[in-house]
Amino acid sequence: MISENKIIDGKSIAKSIREEIFHQANMLKTFNIIPGLAVIQVGHNPSSTIYVRNKVKAATEANIHSFIFQFEESTSTEQLKMKIEHLNNDPKVNGILVQLPLPNHIESMEVINTIAPEKDIDGLTIENVGKLVTRQKGLIPCTPQGCLILIKSIEPVIKGLQAVVVGRSNIVGRPMSNLLVNEDCTVTIVHSRTYNIEKICEKADILVIAAGKPKLVKKEWVKDGAIVIDVGINRITKFATTKLLGDVDFDNILPKVRAITPVPGGVGPMTIACLLKNTIEATMGQKGLMLGKNGDIVKKDNFKSL
Ligand code: NAD
Repeated sequence: MISENKIIDGKSIAKSIREEIFHQANMLKTFNIIPGLAVIQVGHNPSSTIYVRNKVKAATEANIHSFIFQFEESTSTEQLKMKIEHLNNDPKVNGILVQLPLPNHIESMEVINTIAPEKDIDGLTIENVGKLVTRQKGLIPCTPQGCLILIKSIEPVIKGLQAVVVGRSNIVGRPMSNLLVNEDCTVTIVHSRTYNIEKICEKADILVIAAGKPKLVKKEWVKDGAIVIDVGINRITKFATTKLLGDVDFDNILPKVRAITPVPGGVGPMTIACLLKNTIEATMGQKGLMLGKNGDIVKKDNFKSL
C-alpha cells in the first residue's frame, strides 16, 4: 500500500521557515539593518550556477540583500582569500558563502577558513565545526540542520534512537552525525569503505543518506518504521530529459517506512531555508541582537561591538 502521508513535505516546511525569516528581516529594518549575503562562485559548473541562482532568489524574496562574486575557473587560492578578507571587513556583508566544490587546484579548506567565523553561514570553518562537535552555539551547516528539522517534524524527541548516516563528507555526513549525537541518538557513520553496510543500515530508526549514488539504498537495508532522509541529488539524463534521483530506491522503500523525504522536494528546499536562517542569525549576532521570548528582536545585554 502506498501512503502519501508518509512523504515528508520539505517544500512546505521550508516555506514556513522562509516566511518566518521574511518577518525577522522586516523587524531588522526597524533597527536600520538589511542583512547582506555574499555568494562566491568559481568557474561555470552548471549545477553550481543553478544553486547560486536559487539561493540569491530566495534571499531577495526574504528581504536579504545579496552580492554575487563570480570568479574565473583559473582563479588562485590567494585571490579568493583576498576577496574573503575584504568581505570579512565589509559591514554590509553579514554572511559569506563559497559555493562548493571549488576547482581542484584551489585549497578549499584554506579558503573556507579565511571566512570570519561569525559570517560563516555554511558552518564549515574549523571554529564552527569545533563548536558543533563540543556542543557550543555556532553556525550549523545548512543541509544537516535542515535534515534535523525534517526528522523532528516527525519525531520531536529522538533521544536514545539508533541513527545511521551514510556518507562522511564535511558538508553533510560528519556534521549530520554530530547533530544527531547532540540530540542523544546512538550514531553510526558508514561510507564507501564500510563492510556489510546493509546490515548496519537495517538497525536504524533514523537513516540519513548522503552518498551521491542513485538508488543505493534498497528496501532490504531499511528497518520497518524507520524515518528515512534522502540527501542525494543525482542528475540522470535519458532520452534528452534530465531527472533528479535521490540515493534511495524510493518506491520500494515507501511501504516500509514511517516517513521518508522525496527527491526533489525534500532536503533541497530545507538547505536554502536554513541558509537564510543562518544569515539572519549571523546578522543578529554581529549587531548584538537576539530573538526575544515572543519572537521579537531584542538587544543583548552587555553586547560589545566588534
Ligand atoms: P561527497 O562526494 O563529498 O561524499 C559522499 C560520501 O558518500 C563519501 O563519504 C563516501 O564515502 C560515501 N559513499 C559514496 N559511495 C558510497 C557507497 N556506495 N556506499 C556508502 N557510502 C558511499 O558528497 P556530499 O557533498 O556529501 O553529497 C552527497 C550527496 O548529497 C550528493 O548527491 C549531493 O548532490 C547531495 N547534496 C544535496 C544537498 C541538498 O541540499 N539536498 C546538499 C549537499 C549535498
